[in-house]
Order: sequence, then structure tokens, then C-alpha cells
Amino acid sequence: MRKRSWWGWGWDDQAVVGKDLDDLAQRVSQYLPLDGHVTPVPVLDGLPKPALPQPPVESRGDTEARAAHTHGKAFRDVVRNLNADLKRPPEWVIYPQHEEDITRVFEWAIANNAKVIPFGGGSSVTGGIEYRGDEPFVSLDLSALDGVLDIDEVNLAVRAQGGIFGPALEAQLKPHELTLRHYPQSFEFSTFGGWIATRAGGHYATGYTHIDDLVQSVRIVTPSGVSEAQRVPANGAGPEPDRMWLGSEGSFGVISEAWARVQRRPTFKSSASITFSGYSESVAAVKEIAQSGLNPANCRLLDPIEAMLNTATPSATLILGFESADHPVDTALGRAVEICHGHGGEVSTKDEAGQWRGAFLKAPYLRDGLVRLGVVVETFETACLWSGFQQLHEAIVEALSPALVTCRFTHVYPDGPAPYFTVYAAGQRGGELELWDDLKARASHVLLAHGATITHHHAVGRDHLPWYRPSPPFLAAMRAVKQTLDPHNILNPGVLHL
Ligand SMILES: Cc1cc2nc3c(=O)[nH]c(=O)nc-3n(C[C@H](O)[C@H](O)[C@H](O)COP(=O)(O)OP(=O)(O)OC[C@H]3O[C@@H](n4cnc5c(N)ncnc54)[C@H](O)[C@@H]3O)c2cc1C
Repeated sequence: MRKRSWWGWGWDDQAVVGKDLDDLAQRVSQYLPLDGHVTPVPVLDGLPKPALPQPPVESRGDTEARAAHTHGKAFRDVVRNLNADLKRPPEWVIYPQHEEDITRVFEWAIANNAKVIPFGGGSSVTGGIEYRGDEPFVSLDLSALDGVLDIDEVNLAVRAQGGIFGPALEAQLKPHELTLRHYPQSFEFSTFGGWIATRAGGHYATGYTHIDDLVQSVRIVTPSGVSEAQRVPANGAGPEPDRMWLGSEGSFGVISEAWARVQRRPTFKSSASITFSGYSESVAAVKEIAQSGLNPANCRLLDPIEAMLNTATPSATLILGFESADHPVDTALGRAVEICHGHGGEVSTKDEAGQWRGAFLKAPYLRDGLVRLGVVVETFETACLWSGFQQLHEAIVEALSPALVTCRFTHVYPDGPAPYFTVYAAGQRGGELELWDDLKARASHVLLAHGATITHHHAVGRDHLPWYRPSPPFLAAMRAVKQTLDPHNILNPGVLHL
């Protein structure tokens, strides 16, 4: 049985260690000073005994389970785990086997004055699964709700339980030649319900990128009862109920299952990598493609540093792909390449797309290795209008200087890109969190000042709260919803200012 890492990303056996870590240190030391120390992974001492009685549903109170459910998977989480800083673990990790168990947990939590934090894959990077109040809390791990309940080949849809992980869901669609085609970078270790609760963004996509676009109807268990929306292709009857659950971050209820649209697996594929001599020319090309109606399946622009670090190509690089289950896509690719030519782009003979994909999947493991070497390395993402991108980019680089900042477009829309920034800075042992918090605050301030969102797909959680500013009437409406659905305020209090 492969083991999940409790302190960092993914599988334990994929962690960057030994010679690979030495090599990484060697490469990084060319750009950032390192102190030659590697933070060891701590051996966990026993946590204090759970302060709550054992819940009436399958649960674990041992250190291993509780430690793995204490933090998410952001830089701050990895640093705190490596420092064995587990000040606020859940008292119990509870594994509901069916919806009735969820309701029983709610009743037990109300009776015991406990908070309940829904937990999918625990891949939150915004403090979404970490209760910061004073009351005792439990983690509601939904991994036993992992079934595909129905595959509707006539209407192209799947009904699956909220706790199913990406690979298991796709594996069950594959024999039917179908795919949900929703690939967040965290795909392997995040869940269908978690995607819906955070409005996740999938990669290798333009057009349908957020899970919102794929959801047909959601079933949610709230402390005030179960709600399920009508399953129809589109609905003009008043405000859309599913919109209330999309992005609710576990504060209104537990998404126990949902119907989502699937598509036939693509059989026609065409791709190309295009390099540009100037970054602004590459941005102009991508804007034109995004507004052309061509809808590439992949349209990912790497700035020159990002391209250099991931593909060893020292210029802005566009990774472009088209796919279809129905018709050849060479003509569409040809037209997109023509647009790039118009902005000075040249088709590359190197396989940047393949190199980039490999680097993309390894990135979280490398990030953990860098953290052990003392580097401050983290990402943040946003979306803005095309008209504001250049000034935003310049302001971010200036605000975070002298940290190294790279940028890629993870998603593009006709009205603007979703830029994704990676920040590297030399850390001071013991001061890494302070430094990152300062960089994050500076970056977030710039985002807001330039009219960009605090998050395009990482959700609000707790870490984004200072920069998540819903209008007062909207916030009041959300609080009224919360009060109606969760009158005892047991579900993930604090996220979304609720
Ligand atoms: C390396 C890495 C790469 C990432 N890449 C992407 C990316 O490409 N795109 C993207 O969108 N995000 C990405 N993320 C962020 C994260 O993976 C997403 O937010 C993801 O959707 C969270 O899913 P999860 O199952 O892990 O949920 P968790 O992290 O377990 O929970 C997240 C939030 O949702 C709530 N929740 C979870 N399940 C349910 C449920 N069934 N019902 C109600 N509430 C629930 C939790 O209470 C919490 O508030 C990445 C994170 C990491 C660490």
C-alpha cells in the first residue's frame, strides 16, 4: 500500500530526497543563497488525547490521522508541518460511510459544541480545512463516499459521490470512452466534492475551465436537511440553486453527490509550442487567440523565466493544443499558429509541451524539497481584464522585488487571462512564514489595487479573507443563508466571512 505524505504533497515515496535533493540544492544555489541545511521530517510525538468523546460514526483519534488533517498543502502548511507545529489538530477524524452518518455527526457536534470541517483531499492552499477558532473541532473526511453511482451515456453525465478522487472518477468513465476532463494540478489528491466546494479550475482547457461549467446538479446535506437541484440542461426558473453550493467551502453543508456533464474522450489531437522574442508580443497573440472563437484545449503562456525553469527554453513560450472526439483539429491549430506568426511567434522544434507537463506534475514535490532547503517558494493566482494585465504584471514584479517572480497563464478567456505567479525568495530559518506573509500581503494589495480577483481558482478559505470583500448586501444575504442552513454554526466557521 502506498502511503500519503502527512507533512507535504502526494505520495511519501515521491518526495525529493537523497541525491535528487542534493541536485536540486546545487541547481537552486546558482540563483539563491542556501545555508546547506536540510530540514528533517519530524517524528511525531503523540498529540494530547482528543478533548471530545468519540463520535458515533467511524472515526480515528490517533496522532497520524489527526496530524494529516491539521493543515492543507500550501507553503505555510508544509513549513508548519516540518516544524512539527501542530497546535490545532482536529480532535477526531470522522469517516462517514453514507449520508445518514453525516447527519448523525451534525447532531453529535451540536450536542458537544464541536465544529465540523468537511475534508475532501485536504489539498486546500488557503487554510480552508484549518479551524482557527477556540472551540474543539473534528475533521469530516469524506473519502469513504467514493462511488460512481450512475453513468448516463444518453445525456452524457455522471453521478458521483463527493469524496471520490480525480483518478478513481476518470478510471470509471474510461471504459465508457467518456471523461469529465477536469484536471486541476491537484487532480490526483483532490475530490469531486472538494472541486465543487471550492469552484476549482481545471487545466488543459479554455472555455469550460471551472467545475461550475460542468456541474449539472448538486446534492448537499445541511444541518437543516438535504437539498438537491433539478437535473436539466439549463434552467431559467429563478436564481440557480447549484450556484449557492458552488464555492460554499463547506460552510453551508456537505456535498454528498453531484451530477456533472461528461464528454466523449478526444481522439483527434494537435499541438504546437510557439516561442516569441518578446513577452508583450506573446501576450498579444494569446489575447487574439482567446478572442478568435477557436477555443484551444490548451493555451498556456509561460513567461521567459517560467519557460527557462521548466523547459530550458529562454523565451516566452506558448503551449497550444486542440482536441476533439468528433473532427480533425489541424485546421484550428493552423489558424492559431498563423495568429502567433502575426505577432512574431515561431513554432518550436523542441517538445516544450511534454517537458512542461512533466515539470508541472513534479512541481509540488520539488516545492516541498525547496522548503526543506530553506527556500520561500509559493504561488498565487488571479484573473484580470486584458486591458489591465501589463500594468498588473509590472506592479507585481516591482512589489515583490528582490524575490524572483515568474508568471504563466493557466487559463485565458476572451475578456482576460488568469495569470499564475510563482515566487522564489531566500528564506531565513525560522522567518519563512513571516517573509511569505509579507510577500503575499504585498501581492494581494497589488491585485486589489489593479481590479484583479484575489483568486481565480484557489478559493477564499481563511488566508484570502482580508482581500475577499463581497458587497455588504451580498454578505448579509450569505450570512442569512448560513444562519438558515446551519443555525448552530458548526460547519467550517470563518471561511467566506461566515
Ligand atoms: C499542488 C497543488 C495544486 C493545486 N492545483 C489546483 C488547480 O489546478 N486548480 C484548482 O482549482 N485548485 C488547485 N489547488 C487547490 C485545491 O486542490 C483545490 O481547491 C481543490 O478543489 C480542493 O479539493 P479537495 O478535495 O482537496 O478539498 P479540501 O482541500 O479537502 O477542502 C477544500 C474546501 O472545500 C470544503 N470541502 C471539501 N469537500 C467538501 C464536500 N464534499 N462538501 C462540502 N465542502 C467540502 C472544505 O471544507 C474546504 O473548505 C491545488 C492545490 C495544491 C496543493
